[in-house]
Amino acid sequence: MPNTAEQPRERFTNFTPYEMKKGEEYMSAEMLQHFKDLLLQWKQELMEEVDRTMHHMQEDAANYADPSDRATQEEEFSLELRTRDRERKLIKKIDQTIDRIDKDDYGFCDQCGVEIGIRRLEARPTATLCIDCKTLAEIRERQTGI
Ligand SMILES: [Zn+2]
Repeated sequence: MPNTAEQPRERFTNFTPYEMKKGEEYMSAEMLQHFKDLLLQWKQELMEEVDRTMHHMQEDAANYADPSDRATQEEEFSLELRTRDRERKLIKKIDQTIDRIDKDDYGFCDQCGVEIGIRRLEARPTATLCIDCKTLAEIRERQTGI
């Protein structure tokens, strides 16, 4: 039985880290293109995962007659649906990020405006906050319990 409860890839690692040229400006056209390519590839990968999940669910749907098997199967399905839901949300976020790249509004913290940084963006291409603001936001989230 394949592990269908696998998390969608929150990270995309299949890329060559960007090397800044001497005197290159942060978020130059070339750098923006690098991140756009990265996001498009990541999206492609996620969409293939969604396809696989769908396919697997269709294949399995007819295979069980026994009620207890069906219960197990329903549990699996709901897990898969949750995974797909996360994948869909992630794909939406990727689309929004690509949109921001196209508008040349990428790579700077939404909160304080500093450069988010190439390495952080490569680890998390959909990041909209610098690491400091992100940390603060997480602390606040924990305190208010939202
Ligand atoms: Zn910030």
